[in-house]
Amino acid sequence: MKVKEIFYSIQGEGMNAGRPAVFVRFAGCNLWSGREQDRAGAICKFCDTDFRGGESYTIGELVDEVYNVSEFSRGWPLVILTGGEPMLQIGPGLIREFNRWHVEVAIETNGTIAIPEVWGIDWICVSPKAGTVIEQYKADELKLVWPQEGLDPAEFSDGERYMYENLLLQPKWEEDPAARQANIDACIDYIKIHTEWRLSLQTHKLIGVR
Ligand code: SF4
Repeated sequence: MKVKEIFYSIQGEGMNAGRPAVFVRFAGCNLWSGREQDRAGAICKFCDTDFRGGESYTIGELVDEVYNVSEFSRGWPLVILTGGEPMLQIGPGLIREFNRWHVEVAIETNGTIAIPEVWGIDWICVSPKAGTVIEQYKADELKLVWPQEGLDPAEFSDGERYMYENLLLQPKWEEDPAARQANIDACIDYIKIHTEWRLSLQTHKLIGVR
């Protein structure tokens, strides 16, 4: 498995916001090469993550490193498999190994690759991107970065095609403060009318942690 970085921090967004967590960021994504010159032509154009490069890990090395970075915690913190797109790299063996240590495992995926239920991942977060086919119909949370041209939140909340336990609208981050505020306002306006949704903020950015 190619891993970009492993670090211990606080989950800043989604339903697990505020929880201590080890982040395992896998290298590579199927929706963008990660190179700026390819961004305009990529399927996913607003990525703010560097997932290029990385080092190879065996399952044992990865679990050891997760343990090492969280060595001061009492018991295992939540482990979040993220990326890039972690489903390009992981398999059932990694989840089995975490299960053996009774580690709670979450995954953040763009949803284009189905996750076998038998793997037993504890928490699935799908963050869909416009212009893709969603294969992961079931999840603990849907985290929709919005506004996203070509994606209507309503298609995820009709209760027919998708089974997502929690519906979260997360304002798309913009460097320009006015544009950022406009996205926040759009999300709040939407949620006030569609009350099955709730707001997810990237609180780690607001408080200056990774
Ligand atoms: S799907 Fe996620 S990791 Fe991939 S390019 Fe988009 S935001 Fe980045």
